[in-house]
Amino acid sequence: MKYSKLFPKTLKQTPTGADSLNLQFLTRAGFIHQEMAGVYTYLLLGWRVLDKISDIVREEMNAIGGQEVIMPVLQPADSWKKTGRYTSMDVLFKLKGASEADLILGPTHEEIVYPLVAENIESYKDLPIYLYQIQVKFRNEPRAKAGLLRGREFLMKDLYSFHVSDEDRDNYYEKARKAYLEIFKKIGLPVIETKAGGGTFSSISQEFQVLTPSGEDTIFICKDCSYAINRELVDSKKCPECGGSLEEKKAIEVGNIFPLKRAFAEVFNLSFIAADGQKTIVSAGCYGLGISRTMGAIVEVFHDDKGIIWPESVAPFLVHIVGLDMEGPLTRSARSGQVSAREKAEHIYNLLQAESVEVLFDDRTDVSAGEKFADADLIGIPYRIVVSKKTGDKLEIKKRSEKETRFLILEELIKMLKD
Ligand SMILES: [Zn+2]
Repeated sequence: MKYSKLFPKTLKQTPTGADSLNLQFLTRAGFIHQEMAGVYTYLLLGWRVLDKISDIVREEMNAIGGQEVIMPVLQPADSWKKTGRYTSMDVLFKLKGASEADLILGPTHEEIVYPLVAENIESYKDLPIYLYQIQVKFRNEPRAKAGLLRGREFLMKDLYSFHVSDEDRDNYYEKARKAYLEIFKKIGLPVIETKAGGGTFSSISQEFQVLTPSGEDTIFICKDCSYAINRELVDSKKCPECGGSLEEKKAIEVGNIFPLKRAFAEVFNLSFIAADGQKTIVSAGCYGLGISRTMGAIVEVFHDDKGIIWPESVAPFLVHIVGLDMEGPLTRSARSGQVSAREKAEHIYNLLQAESVEVLFDDRTDVSAGEKFADADLIGIPYRIVVSKKTGDKLEIKKRSEKETRFLILEELIKMLKD
């Protein structure tokens, strides 16, 4: 991608009302545009990051047998009235369809997936079933804030599992827990597994929390072992595992998994004929992961005062070529017999793309070197390569996460990026 063509360009000023670091940096760097509180347009850079996070999640969900589906955003209110959540969930978006039919915009999909599975299973042979989607969700938040951390419209992965027994469900729950740890390891985001309450529909749950001072959750972590627990469950300042003292921390919840009670299954009569011929209610679990919230959390954790520092696995591009001395026609070489900086930069850009390396090439001729460097730091792509008259046969390479600059020839660079 040539930066001269990319829409939009970076902003010099922090947008007014941007109340969080992730919103400030993502907006200034051209990843997102705020339409109203908690609602965003994802521009090319932002969409690429969401897509990379989604692909990592998808790979791990498929590895534990998940079947990807897409359920509707627009849902009939009837099922929500059956579960009681039409009135009990205060952040539900309600609207009227044709003929005054009550509709809602989905904040979650139990009310769709339970009737769907109930209609399509008969015996224990039809189980287990694991369905997931990566879908836009809605919450009518009275205080949407903190950029991508608490939105009114956001992207989530939700997986629903259905089993013949609690034992089978618990085995799968453990697999899902490990898959979550693998997802965050691949993304490069350190998470703390935290015990939490389950709300109305589950007795316990497990959260995946990212430590950051900007987090809205409060968790307690043992100083001596890895035990962590959400504030709502803490009843003493001592670790129940080892007796060590618990320390209070701010965190962002990026995922949570629940072994569910049978409430939903009973409401929708989600049952099957067991091996002994008895009609039996299914055992179920649900597993959420905030895709757009994870993007916000990454920015909250990985940045400096100049901008974002993307982990390689989710960066919008791997390499940012900063082309200097780009002005002048490409024909200069014919006159001087030398390769111009512009030709060299174009050549490297084409070659890296031919090697399947994702490159953003700042080919602009109307901005200063200083502005290009500032933009590269703000956008936060992992590798910056400077091509100019001065660099000769070598390329100046700098990792966004490091201070040190190195000079490599093109072959060495490709080898390094491929490794
Ligand atoms: Zn402990």
